[in-house]
Amino acid sequence: MKQLLHLIINSLYTNPEIFLRELISNSSDALNKVRFMQVKGEEVHAPKLPLQIKIEVDHEKNLFSIEDTGIGMSLDDLTDRLGTVASSGTMKFMEQLKENGSKAEGDLIGKFGVGFYSAFMVTDKVTVETRHAQIDDAARKWVSDGKGTYEVEETDRTDRGTKISFVFKEEHKDFALDHKIKQLIRKYSNFVDFPILVNGEEVNSTTALWHKSKSEIKEEELNEFYKFISNDFEDPLGHLHLSMEGRINFKALLFVPKRKKPDFFRTEELTSLQLYSNRVFVQEDCKDLLPEYLRFLEGVVDSEDLPLNVSREVTQYSPVMTKIREVLVNKTLSLIEEWAEKEPETFYTFYKEFGPLFKSGLQSDFGNRDRLIELLRFQSTRTAGASDKETENESMVSLKTYAERMPEKQKEIYYLSGNRLEDILLDPRLEYFKKKNIEVLLLSDPVDAFLVPGLGTYQEKPLKSIEKADLDLDTDEEEEKDSLSGELLEQVINAFREAGKDRLEDVISSRRLVESAVTLTIGKEGMDSHLEKMMQMMDKSTGQSKKVLEINPSHPVIVKMGTYLKEQKQEMVQLMAEQLFESALLMQGDLDSPGTFVQRMNRLLEKL
Ligand code: ADP
Repeated sequence: MKQLLHLIINSLYTNPEIFLRELISNSSDALNKVRFMQVKGEEVHAPKLPLQIKIEVDHEKNLFSIEDTGIGMSLDDLTDRLGTVASSGTMKFMEQLKENGSKAEGDLIGKFGVGFYSAFMVTDKVTVETRHAQIDDAARKWVSDGKGTYEVEETDRTDRGTKISFVFKEEHKDFALDHKIKQLIRKYSNFVDFPILVNGEEVNSTTALWHKSKSEIKEEELNEFYKFISNDFEDPLGHLHLSMEGRINFKALLFVPKRKKPDFFRTEELTSLQLYSNRVFVQEDCKDLLPEYLRFLEGVVDSEDLPLNVSREVTQYSPVMTKIREVLVNKTLSLIEEWAEKEPETFYTFYKEFGPLFKSGLQSDFGNRDRLIELLRFQSTRTAGASDKETENESMVSLKTYAERMPEKQKEIYYLSGNRLEDILLDPRLEYFKKKNIEVLLLSDPVDAFLVPGLGTYQEKPLKSIEKADLDLDTDEEEEKDSLSGELLEQVINAFREAGKDRLEDVISSRRLVESAVTLTIGKEGMDSHLEKMMQMMDKSTGQSKKVLEINPSHPVIVKMGTYLKEQKQEMVQLMAEQLFESALLMQGDLDSPGTFVQRMNRLLEKL
């Protein structure tokens, strides 16, 4: 017994306040049983007694009592259940503990009921007075110090049910405060569906909403409930009400908030759902109910398939939990898919608030990868010009829509990432695509900059950053008239190679520039430049990949370089090459030495 008590106090429950939850839960069970007898039409003692739980505390005398009008306990119950904690299951548990050394295995703890004994965390001696609901049973009083012995005697109690009373240990005196006990009830047992009275006052006003059928629940009730559990002041954006029966039984009420909480992006502070076991609160923030990317959800899950004293280990490894989680993820994705299809406004409100977190699921939930990919939305060169914010949102594009409107000749899906949409739109590398009317996805959300390169392909079409030098562009077009070519172009290219030596992977003549003279692209193996910058911010040791410089042979400045070459003005050509190369670096925010840049520009102006 001592060992068991030690175990209860030190490893099962680290938190003494839950003694109250355990006792209320026992009372609630007892009330459920008597209600069940009555429903079946069995005769019970004192049938008119209201089904309720009465708690009395007296801070001065340091007293606590909890009394229910439940089924009560017979002599056998008192001796077999309360008397010998060493009921068969418990004994086995103890033996197994010995075999495994002293380490308590998670699922063993889960199978093990010790609720009543948790009272010995806060007291040294418990008195139980009880009268069974059977008509002809006697009332009894049971007293124990929880150390292996107990005494039972008959008493003259007339009411049906059980009263448990004790004096708090000195260090737990605070539990005898009226407001303290009420606060704990609101925290742990608010949805017990029998009235709980503390010193005569009913405390639990809220009923277990999720146990009602959908048609019984009014929208206001849902909203109130949501606000109660989330501390939000706004109504939720939407909700899910689940009631699963069969191989796995649980009920759940989940809410998608309209807005994220202020500290939302500190993922370690993301809360999760509340877990109930048969209406009795078990865990505040049950992380194992949802994957991280769905932790914007608020709500409760109530399953009768989980033991009440579930520990962290139990929720983590239990197959019941895994199954519940699977269902929750599946239903949540269905809800969001439905929004995407039928309620774009709701969908975009959601996407704007929780998109970044939600999208991160692509990197963790491989089972739902395909579904998540379909829910991605992007700005693009087609959508970003839209006049007002609203239509801009609604015209964001999915990969599916993008693929559908790709011209037949186009073989790849193009994107460009950057810090702000406004800046990306000014990128010279977009010129060719704008001119050719090829849609480019514009990724200004940092999460996208990480995610999209990792997608690889969509419907067998490669996703490619237009920063890449190896784009599969359609090139069968007539040569521009004033374009530089042949030997002169080669020499100009060489001048650029000289200007960028050590800093460039290559210099090539490119057809994709329209208004700019040069631009930097990345080689086959290189990383998107925006992504690279973010990586460098996080990890200073990330190196910079070498770029490819593409030059526009029909740009007047490049053509002019050809002219200077013909006139033997080599020095001028070299200066221009250096200046153009560095202005491309400047455009990308990669120019190391503005001083040299400006000096060279002044020399150029002077020469001209
Ligand atoms: P568990 O509730 O997990 O079975 P407990 O130690 O909490 O374990 O309770 C042991 C048993 O004592 C219960 O199964 C129940 O039969 C009996 N019991 C405890 N509290 C009450 C109560 N208030 N009314 C009737 N029976 C009770």
